[in-house]
Amino acid sequence: MDGSTIRLAIQSKGRLNEDSLKLLKDAGIDVDDAKRKFLGRAADFPLEVLYLRDDDIPGVVEDGAADIGIVGFNEVAETGANVEVLRKLGFGKCRISLAVPKSVDYPGLEWFHGKSVATSYPSVLKGFLSRKGIDTEIRVIKGSVEIAPAAGIADAIFDIVSSGGTLVSNGLREVEVVLESEAVLIVRKDLPAEKRSLLDSILFRFDAVGESRGKKYILMNIPDERLSEVFGLLPAMRSPTVMPLAAKGWSSVHSVISEKSLWKTVEQLKSIGAEGILILNVDKVID
Ligand code: ATP
Ligand code: MG
Repeated sequence: MDGSTIRLAIQSKGRLNEDSLKLLKDAGIDVDDAKRKFLGRAADFPLEVLYLRDDDIPGVVEDGAADIGIVGFNEVAETGANVEVLRKLGFGKCRISLAVPKSVDYPGLEWFHGKSVATSYPSVLKGFLSRKGIDTEIRVIKGSVEIAPAAGIADAIFDIVSSGGTLVSNGLREVEVVLESEAVLIVRKDLPAEKRSLLDSILFRFDAVGESRGKKYILMNIPDERLSEVFGLLPAMRSPTVMPLAAKGWSSVHSVISEKSLWKTVEQLKSIGAEGILILNVDKVID
C-alpha cells in the first residue's frame, strides 16, 4: 500500500456488506463482491478494499492496517477504538437495548440491581450501568443472546434491536434504549497527509449519494396564474425552474422534493391545477 492508494475495510459478509458495496458503486467506485477474497482493488479509483468481520474493523483502522472503514457505530462504541467517525451513512440502523421477559412488571432501571444480563456488548453495557449507578452482573455470550432468559442463563438481555420481532418471538420486551446505531465511515487518527485528497474525494462522492437519498425530481404543468401558489409548496434547492410551455398561459415547473412529503405535495399541487405531474429518481445531488 502506498500513498497514492487508500485502503478501506468493509464487512466481508453479513448485514452491512451489500449496502457498503452499493454505496461504493453509487459513488462510482466499483469493487468486486469478492466473497472468497480478503483484499480487493477498485477498477477506477485508487482504493483497496479489505474484507473483514465487522468486529475487527475499528481496530484495524485504529492500527492503520486500513485507512478508513465502514462499520456499525455499535462496534466502534464497543471496541472503544481510537478512530474518528466522519459520516453517518444512513443504513444498518438499529439500537442496542435492554430487554426483560414480558412477564416482568418493570418499574424502571432499578429493576436491574442484583440481576444478570446476557450480552455481546459488555463494554457499552458496563459504561451505561456505571453511569446510572446500577450494579448488575454482565454475562458475555457471543450469539443467540435472545434465548438467554428462557435458557436460564441470565435474567435479561442487552442486544441489538431493529424491528423488535426477535424480542417478541422470544417472549421479551424492550425496556431501555441505550445506544442508537447506524453504519458510519471511520478514519484512522494519523491518516498520512498524502491520502487526504483521496479521502476528500470519497467524502465528496458519499455526500452526493447521501444527499440524493430520499429525494425525487418533480415536474408538472401549471397555469401561469397559479405559479406563486406552486412556489409556496415546493422548497427547491435554490428555487424552482420555470419554463414557458408552447400553450399560452401555461408553464412547466421543475423542482426537487423530499420523498417523505411527496404524496401530500402532489395532492396539493393537483388541487391548485397542476397537470402532467412527473416524478423521477435523483441519482446524485452536488451542492
Ligand atoms: P461478522 O461476521 O462480520 O462479525 P456479525 O454477525 O457480527 O457479522 P451482522 O449480523 O452481519 O454482524 O450485523 C452487522 C451490523 O449490522 C451490526 O453490528 C449492526 O451495526 C447492524 N445491524 C442493523 N440491524 C441489525 C439487526 N437487526 N441485527 C443485527 N445487526 C444489525
Ligand atoms: Mg461481528
